[in-house]
Amino acid sequence: MPHMTAARLHTECNELRLESVDVPVPSADEVRVKVKFAGVCLTDIHFIRGETAAGMPPQVTLGHEVSGVIDAVGSNVGGWRIGDRVVVHPVEDRGTTTRVLGAHYDGGWAEYLVAPKGALVAIDDNVPYEIAAIIPDAVATPWAAITDTADVRPVEAVAVWGLGGLGYHAVKLLRLIGAAPIVAIDPIDSARERARTAGADLALDPESDDVAAEIDRITNGNGLDVAFDFYGSGAIHQAAFDVLGRNGRLVLIGVADGPLHVNTSPLLIRGAKQILGHYGAERRHIEELIRLVRTGRLDLSDSVSAVYPLDRAHDALDALATKTGHPIRILLQP
Ligand SMILES: [Zn+2]
Repeated sequence: MPHMTAARLHTECNELRLESVDVPVPSADEVRVKVKFAGVCLTDIHFIRGETAAGMPPQVTLGHEVSGVIDAVGSNVGGWRIGDRVVVHPVEDRGTTTRVLGAHYDGGWAEYLVAPKGALVAIDDNVPYEIAAIIPDAVATPWAAITDTADVRPVEAVAVWGLGGLGYHAVKLLRLIGAAPIVAIDPIDSARERARTAGADLALDPESDDVAAEIDRITNGNGLDVAFDFYGSGAIHQAAFDVLGRNGRLVLIGVADGPLHVNTSPLLIRGAKQILGHYGAERRHIEELIRLVRTGRLDLSDSVSAVYPLDRAHDALDALATKTGHPIRILLQP
C-alpha cells in the first residue's frame, strides 16, 4: 500500500500531527483527488483549539477548501474522468445533519483525498488551482449569504462588519452585484485599506469612528438595507441592528460566544426587520463563482496571500492565528 503525508488532527489531545498514512482507495461511489492546493481557515484553528464540530472522529485530516485533479474513479461514478480539474464542495447535506470535508471525513491537507462523487465541481482550464481552492468557502460563503440569505438587490445600502477572508470577499462581491453604498467596518487599518480597494465606499474604525452617525449620513438617514456580521460578536449584533432601516436584514455568519441577545422590540416589529443566520454555500454557488471568474467578472488574483508546503502546516496556522501580514487566504501545497 503506497503512503502519503497528511496533517491530521487528534481531537483527544488538540494536536495537529504530520503523519505518514495509506493513500486512500475510493469506493464505488467515490473519486480520489490528487490535491493541488488546500486553504487554511479560521475554522481549522477552532478545531485544533478543541472547538470541534459535533460528530468529529478522534482523528481526521483537516482541509475543507481543496482544488485538485481526479486521479482514480470508483466503478459507479459516471461523468468524471481521470485528469478532470475539480474543487470539492465541503458540505454534504444529510437532512438534519451535515457531513463536512476535513471535519467529519479526511480533507485536503494531504497528497490525496477521497470524496463522494456528488461533492465534485468542475473547474475550467483558465481558472488557476490556487484561485479555485479558495472558492468553496472563503468566496462561496459570502456569495451565498449575499445572493440567497440576504437577497441583496442592486443599489441597496449595505455594511460588512469584520474584514477577514470572508468579509473582504463580501465587499468585492457586493460591489459586483451593484450594492450602494457599501460600508466596511474593522479596527485593523490594513483591512480597511484593502476593503476600499475591493470597492467599499466608506471604511470605518469601530474604535474611533462614530459608526452609527456615519451610516446615517451616507444613507441620507434611511439606514442600512443589509448588515453582515462576519466577525461574530454581541456588540456588533446590537450596533448593526440599530442602524438597519425599514425592512432591514441583519445576517449573522461569524459565530459569537453565548446566546444571541439583541435589544430589538418594538423596532423589529414596526420596522419589519429580520435577523437571519447563514452557514456555508451550496454547489450551485461554487459553480456560479467559477463562471464569474472564468468570464472575467470576478478577479480573485490578489486573494491568495501566501502558499506554504504541507509540511509547514503549523507555520501556516501560526501566520493565520497571529494575522502576520494580514492574510486574506493562506494555502497549503502538498
Ligand atoms: Zn473555512
